Formats: sequence, structure tokens, C-alpha cells
Amino acid sequence: IPVRGYAGATVAVLGLGRSGLSAARALREGGAEVIAWDDNEAARDAATLEGFALKELAKPGALDGAACLIVSPGIPHLYPAPNKVVRAAWDAGVPVDNDISLFFRSFATPAWDNFERMPKVIAVTGSNGKSTTSALIHHILTHAERPTQLAGNIGRGVLDLDPAIDGEVVVLELSSYQTDLARALTPDVAVFTNLTPDHLDRHDGMGGYFAAKRRLFAEGGPDRCVIGVDEDEGRYLANQLSGGNGDDRVIQVSSGRKLSGPGWSVFAKKGFLAEMRKGKQVASIDLRGVAGLPGAHNHQNACAAYAACRTIGLAPRVIEAAFHSFAGLPHRSQLVAEKDGVKYVNDSKATNVDSAAKALQAFRNIRWICGGLEKDGGLEALLPHLGGVTKAYVIGREAPSFAMKLGDLPHEVCSDMVTAVARAAEDAEPGDTVLLAPAAASFDQYDSFERRGEDFIACVERL
Ligand code: ADP
Repeated sequence: IPVRGYAGATVAVLGLGRSGLSAARALREGGAEVIAWDDNEAARDAATLEGFALKELAKPGALDGAACLIVSPGIPHLYPAPNKVVRAAWDAGVPVDNDISLFFRSFATPAWDNFERMPKVIAVTGSNGKSTTSALIHHILTHAERPTQLAGNIGRGVLDLDPAIDGEVVVLELSSYQTDLARALTPDVAVFTNLTPDHLDRHDGMGGYFAAKRRLFAEGGPDRCVIGVDEDEGRYLANQLSGGNGDDRVIQVSSGRKLSGPGWSVFAKKGFLAEMRKGKQVASIDLRGVAGLPGAHNHQNACAAYAACRTIGLAPRVIEAAFHSFAGLPHRSQLVAEKDGVKYVNDSKATNVDSAAKALQAFRNIRWICGGLEKDGGLEALLPHLGGVTKAYVIGREAPSFAMKLGDLPHEVCSDMVTAVARAAEDAEPGDTVLLAPAAASFDQYDSFERRGEDFIACVERL
């Protein structure tokens, strides 16, 4: 998508990974002069190969005359300490922005002649379930034969999307890093899944983290807001965004609580999804046999995706049929194998305590593989959710100290994944589930949670 509004201007791009490079290309296509930098030499080489001019942006005066500075999501722009180029931009009065913002400025023109067929953007944020919810919305739209594209934190960079076509719905997964920095954030429909502590160092605590996510719902923002109300932050947001009197701007979503207020809501309880309007049930779906969405946390994702699709007019039965063909995403409650009556489930994406707790609640008789790089906030919040766990097999460099924090749960410290999988398999009895849900980041042993999940799968296959 060529970036609009910067033809003939100089734009600085900091960070030349996937999103930075795609921003540089889209800016060039829109006629901007790009100056680029990345502290990593390999990333700089990749940019040079594509003909971009490198400039050490931290040098005094390097940003002189730049119309804006585009910063990659991986670069801290405020906490724990601002990147020095970002600080230089503040001092030089150069607006700091990101690729998401460039996308919103450039995606669809106001001149679309048929308002009904105007392309729409559904943006999804929240602590957990963003990828699953975004992918599920995209899947439902595909099933309903609506033109659709998926991008953002999942899949393609936003500026790598194809230009919009008639009636298209673009689904964007947005992380807090992305929403925090973007100046323009104008989705038609915005979804807030839930909020639990994560990335607190980058946002200086929970308040900053919530504030970053809330930017998606700013004044003049989305026409429709789908808000998960299972935490106080969500309830607060839903209340603030709705005009009262049961207006239709906000759809509240819950997993576990019956919602029957005067407005519009979708909740899941005991395996059933219900859509409510003005206190009356208008549709319901049995989620119990939906294989790609196991557990109450996935029922929350199903409700959020259902609500988002309802705002653009899809029928309940179309959405229901699409649920059944959704395969789920790799590394999120992914059933990898079933051997001798034992299920092997890969939830390597459970990098924080809340997502691990959700995975633990979705199964019973669990042989739990956990551990890795612990996140801020500790493991206490996990303790109430260990009832279904028979034994923990702890991996990671800090495994002994991790294991100490699991209370009196039977456990075994394993040096690595191979050992953990082998030990869990030896102990497991028919009906058990061997679950990888680490409640920790992977970087002490792996490049990414994906590598960790792939290692788990390989170990299971070798059993
Ligand atoms: P995100 O993109 O927000 O990280 P994912 O869909 O990739 O979300 O899921 C991340 C992790 O959280 C996985 O371990 C998954 O099993 C778990 N999870 C998925 N949906 C939810 C939810 N609604 N609430 C809590 N945990 C969830």
C-alpha cells in the first residue's frame, strides 16, 4: 500500500525488521525520500540491498528536515528508557509515528463512492487471545465469502497488504507496542479481548499498559467496540464508550458470566454462546463440539469474533458453521498427537501466567511442562489453577527456582524439553494430557515461542 501524504518529503525509518522494511518500501512507493537505520548490521545490509539510503539517525542533525520518524514496535520509545533516536526526534520536533499509523492514513480513500461497499478495518487488541480472535474473524469472513486480509502482529506487515477492494474487511492484530505509538488509529470496529499483566517494563506498569491499549478506542474512534468485560478495565472501558440507554456502539463479551443488561452482548457459559439484545436472547450456538476452540478462554475468543462479525452484518448460522471448520492456531492449545490414550498439547504461546492458567483450566489430568524465562509479576496467580495438574516437569535455565514457586505441587526439574517430554510420557496414564504451557518466555533456551513449540512437537514425534 503506497503511503499517502509524504510525497517529496524525507521520512526517517528506525528499525529495519519486517515492519520497518515494509514501511520503507511503502513510503518509497508513495514518493517519500527514505533515510533508514538499524543498529544491527545484517538488517542494514538487507535495506541497502533494496536500495535504501542508510543514515546513522542518532548522530546530531541526522533528523534535520525529516517529516517524521517511523519506529519499529520492538524499539522502546519511552520505558524502560527511550531509544536515543526517539529522544533526538522529540528534541528536534520531528513527529514520531509507526507503520500502523501510516496504514490508517493510506488504506481507504474517503472518496469511495458506494458507502455500503467501503472497505472496513477490524482491529483486535488485548493481553491474550489476539491472534486466535483475529485469525478466527478472518476465517469466518473467508467462509462467508467476504473479501478479507489479515495482518499486523500476526501474518503480514500492515503496509504489505494489497490495496483495498470493494467490500473488503481487513483484520488487524495490534499489540500494545503498536497502539501506543500510532498517531492515527481509526478502525471501523475495535475489539478488546481482555487485560492481564504483560510487557509491564515497556509500559511502566499496568496503568501504562492499559493506556496503550485504550488508545484504539480514542474519541472519534471506532463505530463499534467489542469489549471483553471479564476484568474491571474492560468494564470501565465498556461503560465509558457506551452512550447509555442500551445503545449499539458497544458489544460486551464475557466467558463465564451471563450478561443481560439493556445493551448488546455476547457471552459463553457452560459451553453455549448466547447473543443478547436488550435483555433478550436473539441467538445461541453450542460450542461444546467445536474442536478448534477448546476451553473457556477460546470461548471468549469465539464470543469476541462472533460479536465483531455481527457488527458487519454476518448471520449467526454462517458464523456457527465457520467455527466448525476453524483449525486453531499452532502453539495455542494445539493437539499435536494422541499416543496410548495420552494427549499431547502444545501451548508454547502461553508465555505469561494468565494464558498458562487458561490452558490449565481447559484440560484435566495434566502432566504439565512449564518454565523458562519468568516474567514480572511472579507465579502466585497460577497457584489457584493447578488443581488439574498431576505433576509439573520444569524446564529452563531457572528451573529449580521456578519449581520452588509452585507450592506443594509434585514436580521434577528436567534439564531440557527432550527430558521433560520423555519423563512426562513415562509417567502418563491413559486419559492424561501432556501439556506444554510454560507460563514463561522462551528466550533462555530458544529464539522464540515458535521454536520452543516446534521442539516440543519434535520430541513428541520421537517418543
Ligand atoms: P495473543 O496474540 O494475544 O498473544 P493468542 O491467541 O496467540 O493471543 O494466545 C496466546 C496464549 O494465550 C495462548 O497460550 C492461548 O492458549 C492463550 N489464550 C488464547 N486466548 C485466550 C484468552 N481469551 N484468554 C486467556 N488466554 C488465552
